[in-house]
Amino acid sequence: MITSKLVRPILSTSAAFASFIRPANTPQFQGIGLGSGIFQQPLRKMHIQSIPMWVGSSNNYAYLVSDDETKDAVIIDPANPPEVTPILSEKSKTLNLTAIMNTHHHWDHAGGNKKILSSLPSQIPVIGGADCEAVTKTPPHNSTFSIGKNIQVTALHTPCHTQDSICWFMEDSKTNERVVFTGDTLFIGGCGKFFEGNGAEMHKALNEVLAGLPDDTKVYPGHEYTKSNVKFLKKVLPGNEAVDTLEKFADDNQQTQGKFTIGQEKAHNAFMRVHTDEMKKVTGETEPAAVMAKLREMKNAG
Ligand SMILES: [Zn+2]
Repeated sequence: MITSKLVRPILSTSAAFASFIRPANTPQFQGIGLGSGIFQQPLRKMHIQSIPMWVGSSNNYAYLVSDDETKDAVIIDPANPPEVTPILSEKSKTLNLTAIMNTHHHWDHAGGNKKILSSLPSQIPVIGGADCEAVTKTPPHNSTFSIGKNIQVTALHTPCHTQDSICWFMEDSKTNERVVFTGDTLFIGGCGKFFEGNGAEMHKALNEVLAGLPDDTKVYPGHEYTKSNVKFLKKVLPGNEAVDTLEKFADDNQQTQGKFTIGQEKAHNAFMRVHTDEMKKVTGETEPAAVMAKLREMKNAG
């Protein structure tokens, strides 16, 4: 396993991003003991700010992830600079942006890299697949690095939607929170189109690599596609209670990112159930890779 550390950019005093300066280290404390409140422990968590982009058309998400203790942060897939740079500018007062990260090379994920970089006071690494715009670093499969002090990132190569697709698994060592940024590989209740790959590759990506993560890992996909995914799931998984639960949530909430886990995806996502008799029956196929390919064809056909 190859381990590397992000290089912290040099602090700058440019006008737009005047204060990449850490605030005083003042952790908040919350009493958790009964009565006397003797037991106290730091209240920290992995902060994830969703930045919806092109809402109403392609419904993409960029994500700003920061370590609560050090205030080091990364921005994932900041593809539409007009919707992202105002937030980065505001957040620069409290956060220290250390990298741009990408899930894959498509323009609606990596196409904003150069513009974002040009808006920053100093250069930072672009970490992503080999074909991403202005990429400077492509971590090998299963390699790790850190964001700040507490967030460990693992690169999970998941070629299929594009050959350079990487899902980013993050664990907070302090809080035990686990999340995965899946780009266009795994959506809530669905998966991406196989533009550069096949059923066998998506089967491996979803049902070996991502399914191997702890079940409580929260899923943050590259798009809000849940409602349309539910329509398809109701056709191929009729009467599935987990799909009904997902449908209700999607009806009641415009945003579903981070609300469902890998464990729940295994229950309601047809593409993570290719080994089941019901999916074999629906597709008329028996091998998981063939079931996957057929399911994708059926979804593409609407
Ligand atoms: Zn894509």
